[in-house]
Amino acid sequence: MNHFYYNNNVLFCEGVPVADIAAAVGTPFYLYSTETLTRHFRAFDGAFTLPHLTCFAVKSCSNIALLHLFGTLGGGADIVSGGELYRALKAGIDPRKIVYSGVGKSEAEMRFALEAKILMLNVESHQELQALQNVAAALGVTAPVSFRVNPDVDPKTHAYISTGLAKNKFGIPIQDALDSYLAARQMKNIEIVGVSCHIGSQLTDVSPFVESLQKVRCFTERLKEAGIHISCLDLGGGVGIRYKNEQPPLPAAYATALEQEMHGLDCTLILEPGRVIVGNAGILVTRVLYTKQGGKKFVIVDAGMNDLARPSLYDAFHAIQPVVRRGQEVEVADVVGPICESGDFLSRGKEVPLCAQGDLLAVMSAGAYGFSMSSNYNSRPRVAEVLVKGDSFHLIRRRETYEDLVAGEMIP
Ligand SMILES: *Cc1c(COP(=O)(O)O)cnc(C)c1O
Repeated sequence: MNHFYYNNNVLFCEGVPVADIAAAVGTPFYLYSTETLTRHFRAFDGAFTLPHLTCFAVKSCSNIALLHLFGTLGGGADIVSGGELYRALKAGIDPRKIVYSGVGKSEAEMRFALEAKILMLNVESHQELQALQNVAAALGVTAPVSFRVNPDVDPKTHAYISTGLAKNKFGIPIQDALDSYLAARQMKNIEIVGVSCHIGSQLTDVSPFVESLQKVRCFTERLKEAGIHISCLDLGGGVGIRYKNEQPPLPAAYATALEQEMHGLDCTLILEPGRVIVGNAGILVTRVLYTKQGGKKFVIVDAGMNDLARPSLYDAFHAIQPVVRRGQEVEVADVVGPICESGDFLSRGKEVPLCAQGDLLAVMSAGAYGFSMSSNYNSRPRVAEVLVKGDSFHLIRRRETYEDLVAGEMIP
């Protein structure tokens, strides 16, 4: 359920015609709906009845306006870098609701996190634990730690976004993790608070989540036998969304399946959803520059793979819809950007609305891993981001300028 809909063949976001925003801010731009973001956050967070904390995965969509919104709804943040910590704090997220994931935290990033007094750092290797102990000792503080275990569960998703298989770089193999906890217990500046895992993204079935929770649960029992008690069980993110005809679990089904496995566990459940909250709450709006018939039909638009990388990177599908619908006619065409790579496409070999030069198109389901993965490749300024609320819209990130492109550069 989202708040992008047609009224008299004109695409609206909540109460605002998308074409009006394009006229005001130019194209391309990302457009988010406050109402949809709020609804998705509440549906997810509200599905859980046991003590829990919903830490929005900042990497999926990092604009501080969105982080601020989730903060006001009671959310925390799952961060994977010092930059994301900076954003979360800037957005007013309570540091006691911030968890820090990632295999490669630098010492400077650890220092920043400890000084900010975040809830916990999810440690992924013995060397990282040692580094954290050193940083904490130098600061004279105790580092709250959870280990990210790798449960070796197949999430049945795209290989690039599978993270919980033994062959993936993430976490500590669950069968070796007890040693990490025993080592941590001996460290003066480490406080053990939890156990975490995250098995992948865009999962459309609850069973891999349940399987990994069962494995983690068994593991907490072994910890208990060793005299180690944890207060946080972090299950990561990964719930999928509908891009085309996937059937991802509803929040209620997901929450119920997990809570059944949580019985008798005296832990706060931490969740790190990203895509499921923002994916269908955002679109990318682009304009048709030219159309041409080569070996096939091409629709050349002003947004490229630097603006939305998912089609090129994962061969991901995004529905393309007209901003003003003139008819029902469709044609098979490649919708491509201006970048000098053949991999620069938003849609390839699929039916798209029949369109003409100057038309506006909406690339749907682009809220997650859209703007946050965008780059300046081909020296293209990054696009604007706009947030609609009711009948009004707000620029939440201005389009970059040419000066922005070279702002940090120097000629020696
Ligand atoms: C990417 C990531 C998430 C969010 O994943 P989604 O599929 O967007 O829900 C959560 N936790 C960790 C550790 C991640 O790396």
